[in-house]
Amino acid sequence: MIAKTIFAEEQDEPPDSGAASAAPSFPCPDQTTDFRHRFFPEATLTDWNNWKWQIRHRIDRCEQLERMFSLTDSERNAFQFQNATLPLAITPYYASLIDPDNPSHPIRRAMIPVASELLVSPGEAPDPLGEDSHSPVKGLIHRYPDRVLFLVTDFCSSYCRYCTRSRMVGKRSKGGKQQRQTAIDYIAGHPEVRDVLISGGDPLTLSNQQLDWLLSRLRAIKHVELIRIGTKVPMVLPQRITPALVRVLKRYHPLWISIHCMHPEELTPESRRACTMLADAGIPLGSQTVLLSGINDSVETMKRLMQHLLTIRVKPYYLYQCDPIIGSSHFRTSVAKGLEIYRGLRGHTSGYAVPTYVIDAPGGGGKIPLLPETVIGRENNDLLLKNYEDRVFRYPDLFGSTCSEAVPCE
Ligand SMILES: *Cc1c(COP(=O)(O)O)cnc(C)c1O
Repeated sequence: MIAKTIFAEEQDEPPDSGAASAAPSFPCPDQTTDFRHRFFPEATLTDWNNWKWQIRHRIDRCEQLERMFSLTDSERNAFQFQNATLPLAITPYYASLIDPDNPSHPIRRAMIPVASELLVSPGEAPDPLGEDSHSPVKGLIHRYPDRVLFLVTDFCSSYCRYCTRSRMVGKRSKGGKQQRQTAIDYIAGHPEVRDVLISGGDPLTLSNQQLDWLLSRLRAIKHVELIRIGTKVPMVLPQRITPALVRVLKRYHPLWISIHCMHPEELTPESRRACTMLADAGIPLGSQTVLLSGINDSVETMKRLMQHLLTIRVKPYYLYQCDPIIGSSHFRTSVAKGLEIYRGLRGHTSGYAVPTYVIDAPGGGGKIPLLPETVIGRENNDLLLKNYEDRVFRYPDLFGSTCSEAVPCE
């Protein structure tokens, strides 16, 4: 009975016979249930588990935050001088995961603005990656030879304060279908584009019909081999992952999804279930994580996150150095910190749990991987290598050295 309501289809779609009852049940964590009863007493469990209800009831006003959390002066001040760029929005579900009494709670810090957002530090810019200058048509970034980034919406269900596109998301700009069609025409006219990465905003906030249209248009282009979607929906709005959505997505294989996640506390029964449904539809899942000061910048937290992701069949893909957007200094760490975390993963846990650590180069250079030094020198023919425990090993690299330095040639 409860399982049925939890997996109820979106209201505007005809329910698929049997699909709802076939879904596994999961326990609602007490914290989420308590939050719903306290702040949304009128909402039924069916409402709560409906993604459109979640979007309609987003927390986007300071008075709501005041009621739900004991705000600090810094959080309150951030509102007085409301950041003109990035709006506030948190789905009720994601807000229910926030600790109301702890201002340094990871999800709280990612979602609730603080006064430091208003500080501009050296090197910060609204568009540090120079995306706008690599954009041949609106909503499309063509930086690499064989793939494009296709921004299909500027809307997210919840806005991360450290968003690399904070300059442009949440504007409710009226690009819409016409803009998407122009981008599709560009892709169709560029046979070198074999990989289309759909991002935004959050593409999975589009309706099933819109996604179906978009994916079918892209699939109709012969040279597009791979379609990818970048989304945070499975973490902030897992209710969106319905059997009906999955049925749309799986028609367009090979389709890959990269999930933005940043802390093990996001991995609730709800988000695990969402990832499981996507993985069961044969969609390879990767993760993208931004390294964030005081949120996930420890080996212990990052290792736990990456290991948990593997258990729900999400392969850690990228760990990003935080982009220097305006007002991001309270989120950024040193690169040394990132390398320390990388060293704490590599060799210490499953290789599959180790993402590639990258800086997306300011100025539009693309993603540049950062690796701790492992080749520490050469002795005669031997390459000197440092392993994950800092022990030194030799590899007889006969062919890597020139003839004169190597063993006698004849
Ligand atoms: C990240 C990114 C891509 C995809 O890069 P991969 O390394 O292939 O995942 C493509 N275009 C732009 C502009 C990007 O920022």
